[in-house]
Amino acid sequence: MDIQAAVTETAGGAFRIERLTIEAPGPDQVLVRIVACGVCHTDMVMRDGALPVPFPAVFGHEGAGVVETVGPGVTGLAPGDHVLLSFDSCGACSACSDHQPGYCPEFFPRNFLGALQPGQGGLRRGGERIGSNIFGQSSFATYALAHPRNVVKVDADLPLPLLAPLGCGIQTGAGTVLDTLRLKPGQSIAIFGAGAVGLAAVMAAVIAGAGRIALLDRHRHRLELGRELGATESAESPDTLTGPFDHIVDTTGAPALLGAAVDLLAARGTLALVGAYPSDPRLSIDASAIMSMGRRIVGVVEGGIDPQRFVPDLIDHYRAGRLPMEKLVRTYPFAAIDEAVHDSESGAVIKPVLLMEQNA
Ligand SMILES: [Zn+2]
Ligand SMILES: [Zn+2]
Repeated sequence: MDIQAAVTETAGGAFRIERLTIEAPGPDQVLVRIVACGVCHTDMVMRDGALPVPFPAVFGHEGAGVVETVGPGVTGLAPGDHVLLSFDSCGACSACSDHQPGYCPEFFPRNFLGALQPGQGGLRRGGERIGSNIFGQSSFATYALAHPRNVVKVDADLPLPLLAPLGCGIQTGAGTVLDTLRLKPGQSIAIFGAGAVGLAAVMAAVIAGAGRIALLDRHRHRLELGRELGATESAESPDTLTGPFDHIVDTTGAPALLGAAVDLLAARGTLALVGAYPSDPRLSIDASAIMSMGRRIVGVVEGGIDPQRFVPDLIDHYRAGRLPMEKLVRTYPFAAIDEAVHDSESGAVIKPVLLMEQNA
């Protein structure tokens, strides 16, 4: 079947919308008509070649749409089901069994390399195979092949463009606070970075009943939105934050902020590392300050949650008005993908979402 997809030819290349062929779903695959897809920071990290993705490739990993067909042996999903797509995992290892598939040993190949199992379909341009199955989807496209494990069925009355980002950015911020840190009512939290992940952490902190919610960012308009969402204080530099905090969530990936974060941690406080960190930043952290007061530092992938369990919780919060996604999302026609990416990189828009059916 012919589809339209945004192909990135080489590292650092543009997103070019082209006609590709998508194969029929194989075993453990479902074909999804993509209605909307969020633009996530990790799409830019992959586009820039910071991860060994299979160029030319189709990115996009906050897809939302409607199941078109299912592959042989797939149960529990049927054509017409409305779905949100998330990251992929093996479903069989100890992390997956513990409902923490972000720590699956196959996370890297399944999400960044787009590794396909035998007999599974992918994307082609003429005779050439195009890198697909990124995050088990490749949703910068009018159709994508996903897997039952990274497809979450949702009610048909829900607005897919608003909820597409639940499957990555929103679950990452909210899951970190609610599931990994398990913030208790009255506890304090500082959140570094007021992008989609950081603002999801703010909304989750409100849901959990946090006392102080401090938000750090360089963009004043993002801090204002954070206040609107429930942050009780905001800062443009860590020097102006007053600790201690029971929890600190770093979404910036900036190693320079981590020393300040440790200094701001309360006794028995936890620093969650959520950002995309450079692989060898030669961090210098005061180990005795961690040891002596029972502080913790924890790495977090995708919030540490299982999308099959957590995304339905997020939808309940959305329905109850506790996750006002409309304040974060701005929609763009698929053809305006460059503008959407630009607005994300400049910080002008928190969460651009592409609408595939508005392809020119
Ligand atoms: Zn993402
Ligand atoms: Zn696994």
